[in-house]
Amino acid sequence: MRNFPAFIRSFKCPSTSFIILCNGFSVIVKKFAYSSMVVMNSAKQGTSVWNSVIQNYLRCGKLDDARRVFDETPSPDVYLYTMMIAGYSRNDRLYEALQLFYKMPVRDVVSWNSMMKGCLDCGNLDIARKIFYEMPERNVISWTTIINGFLQFGRIEMAEVLFHKMPSKDTAAWNSMIFGYCSHNRINDALRFFKRMPFRNVISWTTMISGMDQQGNTDKALFLFRQMLDSGMIPTSSTFCCVLTASAKISAFNQGVQLHAHLIKLGYVFDAFVSTSLITFYANCEKIENCSKIFQENLHINVVMWTALLTGYGLNNKHEDALDVFYNMIKVGILPNQSTFTSALNSCSGLEALDSGKEIHGRAIKLGLDEDVFVSNSLVVMYSKCGNIHDATTVFNNMSSRNIVSWNSIIVGSAQHGCGVLALEFFDRMVNAKVQPDGITFVGLLTACSHARMLDKGREFFDLLTRDASIEVKSEHYACMVDILGRSGKLEEAEEFIKIMPVKANSMVWLALLSACRVHHNLEVAKRAAQHVFDLEPHSSAGYTLLSNLYASAGKWNDVSHIRWMMKHRGIVKQPGYSWVTLKGSKHRFVCGDRSHPLNDKIYQKLDLLGAKLKELGHVPDQSFALHDVEDEQKEVMLSFHSERLAIGFALVSTVEGSTIRVMKNLRVCGDCHSAIKLISKIVGREIIVRDSSRFHHFRDGNCSCGDQW
Ligand code: ZN
Ligand code: ZN
Repeated sequence: MRNFPAFIRSFKCPSTSFIILCNGFSVIVKKFAYSSMVVMNSAKQGTSVWNSVIQNYLRCGKLDDARRVFDETPSPDVYLYTMMIAGYSRNDRLYEALQLFYKMPVRDVVSWNSMMKGCLDCGNLDIARKIFYEMPERNVISWTTIINGFLQFGRIEMAEVLFHKMPSKDTAAWNSMIFGYCSHNRINDALRFFKRMPFRNVISWTTMISGMDQQGNTDKALFLFRQMLDSGMIPTSSTFCCVLTASAKISAFNQGVQLHAHLIKLGYVFDAFVSTSLITFYANCEKIENCSKIFQENLHINVVMWTALLTGYGLNNKHEDALDVFYNMIKVGILPNQSTFTSALNSCSGLEALDSGKEIHGRAIKLGLDEDVFVSNSLVVMYSKCGNIHDATTVFNNMSSRNIVSWNSIIVGSAQHGCGVLALEFFDRMVNAKVQPDGITFVGLLTACSHARMLDKGREFFDLLTRDASIEVKSEHYACMVDILGRSGKLEEAEEFIKIMPVKANSMVWLALLSACRVHHNLEVAKRAAQHVFDLEPHSSAGYTLLSNLYASAGKWNDVSHIRWMMKHRGIVKQPGYSWVTLKGSKHRFVCGDRSHPLNDKIYQKLDLLGAKLKELGHVPDQSFALHDVEDEQKEVMLSFHSERLAIGFALVSTVEGSTIRVMKNLRVCGDCHSAIKLISKIVGREIIVRDSSRFHHFRDGNCSCGDQW
């Protein structure tokens, strides 16, 4: 004790501070981080000082300092060795852990078990197995640890062999096997073991219920829960959480409500996990008012519960409320976590609110959470959906780790912005990074080819897709391929392609063909495609609108009238077109000929001015896009005030000169507006980004990124 090294006498580590005073044989350790004070007098107690010093170094992750103290410890005991070894394994320094382990003068079963567990934590099953076979004696923990190890590495057969060899199997070992089977999609084996086990505890039931649910057997999971109650087993809060999650998944509203009543009786409603599951359950059942009630009734609201509420609002398309929850949470001093940011950013995407998205991005950076893969993925989606593919790309390129969602988000985003080459570049990088593409990747690639009119590349990707047995070819893929063929003017080939499709074409596929007919003015194919759309989806207005526009552009007003009559006769209402601009968190919405905006006069003045300039530049309004039953002069007036132009007018009078304008539209932008906006971008010298129902158009200096086909 007298030989305490100098560096121990006073040292600091990030989370705890100690002052160790050596006073003869007595040592006083003051732990400021914890309020305890330990006073020790004898040499025996001295060992615990070494222990606590090493322990605290290990807690701070200062392994080398811990080792230095360890090396100076006079005859360290088994406990100290085991602690040091565990420290190395936790920090992935298996080699040093093993070296120390084999240097131990005596080893007990705890140290053997701990070394074996350390190997597994460091991902080395082989050494763990070697240690298991070297052990002079094994207890039930040794067996369970190695069985868990085999299960963790997917070596189910080896786990089974060992399980059968295990001299006395306790419930924990049985539970491990059930959990292992469930996590490797072997639900029937799990159930077989569950039925065979001599004694089931609450963990056995909960594992089985959760496993059933995760394997998609939600009904059976709920049935099992009823069986559990009948058997007299008392569920824990984890069981309730699993059951609520299952009920949420299949929107089993009545079941969930019954459970809720049960939870109130048992007094579980104030358990944070249970309340969170209840919020998620009601959000899934579209009963968001119940979510906020549960939230408000809770006294101990933590970040998880705030996030559940925020996510719930998002799930119910109440994105403004979701963002209110986010800001309220910050107001009361709760720090958002990764999931909070992910949900909040998803709501920004839902609102296409770039300003709020940027602001939340800033907060994530401050908290150091912007590099989290889930947060980054949401950022990529948010920037791209809000019309800023440049920032989406920057976020993506700065990511330190990426998953399939990251790659898909950037590929789909680039495709929707018409940046076909960029999308293909990302795909090449994805292949180089050895990430296996999935169905969504191909939707992105095919969309990219269609918007960038890359017919050959499109065929190539479709070929690649159909040859990949692991990916199911869905209607979306066929629709994309029809779109690619159609946009390239290969309308007959597209029609033929639909006919020989292995699955029956849905309305989405025929609509893709119909849209292509509009671009290439092919009435014959259009009529046939439209008929299929009418048959498949008799109440949707999309097919009627497209065909009517086609007739209008061909000047066939009688046919236009006929379609209008059909729509009226069948009770189909055309979806009204509207456009909006989001400025400083509020949405400014316009419909055609709208005069209700507070800045109305300024907007119309601006548009009149632009109208005159457009005329000077030789822009002749294309009457076919206006309502057909009004006089020509009036048509021109109507065209100038289509919703997207009002939105642009508003953006022009209320944003800084030179800044990018972002407009969203629920329908496709009309041909006349498209050519007018091209010129407007040149007149005002600003980039105008319009997202319509089909894609993003980037208007710059008199041109559009879509190359006039959309
Ligand atoms: Zn228009
Ligand atoms: Zn365009």
